[in-house]
Amino acid sequence: MIRKIIFTCCVFLSLNLFAQVPPSEDMRLYDIAAATSAQRIGQDVAKLVSFGTRHSLSDTQSETQGIGAARRWIKAEFEAISKRCGGCLEVLTIADMATGTRIPEPHEIVSVIAIQRGQTDPNRMLMMSGDIDSRVSDPMNSNSTSPGANDNASGMAGVLEAARVLSQYKFTGSIVYAGLAGEEQGLYGGKFVAAHAQKHGWNIDAVLNNDMIGNIAGINGVIDNHSARIFSEGVRWVETEEEARQRYFTGGEVDSASRNLARYIKRVGEQYISNLDLMMVYRLDRFGRGGHHRPFNEAGFPGVRIMEVNEHYDRQHQDIRTEQGRHFGDTIEFVDFDFAAKLTSLNAVSLAALAWAPAPPADVSIEGIVQASTTLKWSMGEDDNLAGYRVYWRLTTEPEWSHSRWVGQVDQFTLENIVIDNYLFGVASVAKDGNESPVVFPGPAGSF
Ligand SMILES: [Zn+2]
Repeated sequence: MIRKIIFTCCVFLSLNLFAQVPPSEDMRLYDIAAATSAQRIGQDVAKLVSFGTRHSLSDTQSETQGIGAARRWIKAEFEAISKRCGGCLEVLTIADMATGTRIPEPHEIVSVIAIQRGQTDPNRMLMMSGDIDSRVSDPMNSNSTSPGANDNASGMAGVLEAARVLSQYKFTGSIVYAGLAGEEQGLYGGKFVAAHAQKHGWNIDAVLNNDMIGNIAGINGVIDNHSARIFSEGVRWVETEEEARQRYFTGGEVDSASRNLARYIKRVGEQYISNLDLMMVYRLDRFGRGGHHRPFNEAGFPGVRIMEVNEHYDRQHQDIRTEQGRHFGDTIEFVDFDFAAKLTSLNAVSLAALAWAPAPPADVSIEGIVQASTTLKWSMGEDDNLAGYRVYWRLTTEPEWSHSRWVGQVDQFTLENIVIDNYLFGVASVAKDGNESPVVFPGPAGSF
């Protein structure tokens, strides 16, 4: 009898202790990864191509051709998705006038946005974006056929498909699905949406910008349907001189919020999606080239670019033609829909994990100069679903977080006999369901 009581008591105690450590996997994320459809993405890419051109200066009146018809179709598609989830999406357009080198006369640039409001933390936004527009060889040519099948109907179709899949779930944070306009003319849509976000106090914790997610045959001869790149800024664009000085002495060159978002996407993606290898690139974007995550970084929001590894330049920004048997042009037969679906799944699991996780820890600081141990401190979060925190560390030369430990619901923790000089450190908040925020590196260099 006594033995039985002791047994019961110990089982109860140990279960209770275990209950404090959140699970390491969320089975819903495997379902989300499996739910994206290559067939639906293929249909959407074909539909976007059918508008003839989606050049920013093309026709806005026609119902079947040009940028106007394309953006109205995207808006209608978001509205149809919303109807199927009981009106779970707020669909809006964000427009402003643009002028510049590639827009000689003032011209309206219209992006299309759908917001799936979070249930308990609606102002914390996680965004997935693709681009509406396309171009051929001459960036000013608004008449020629410009299918932009991979650049960037693939990314836009991925955004629509992620909305279809994720709108079947409810999240704590908000997910924003964005069709950004005017990319090829100078990243205008991203600038306008980032400005709108700042003006309305949106707290964007992540922008996952998808630009070319469907090409598996590179100009370098490599054929690869199982890997993708995640580009991220190393040092925040918005860093002040004083913050740069602080970083010079304490580190953070490779630990911006955008970079730790990239690490997060790599970890979650490789956990929940099979046959996918993610390559983090320690660069804002391709060498000297641009994408729509940049205006968000410039507004101070963490953001990355997700794309194929092996690009084919004959199929980007080219008039459709054949020269000595060589095909030029971004036509649909070169888009691999299974691959685009895989990268859409990557976005979907990352967004879902981020939107189910608590907000990233705030006010993260670190101490330990000339001491045996290192202490991390942060502000205790107020999220209902917060289970506690996990602290992370890695060697200064390691690309990914290699060590971590659960520390529970505390607002500081000391890693005994871990010398501050030899590692980089961070902390993540963890939900009761096990979903974690990205790791936050201490100080302004890494804050979200
Ligand atoms: Zn392009």
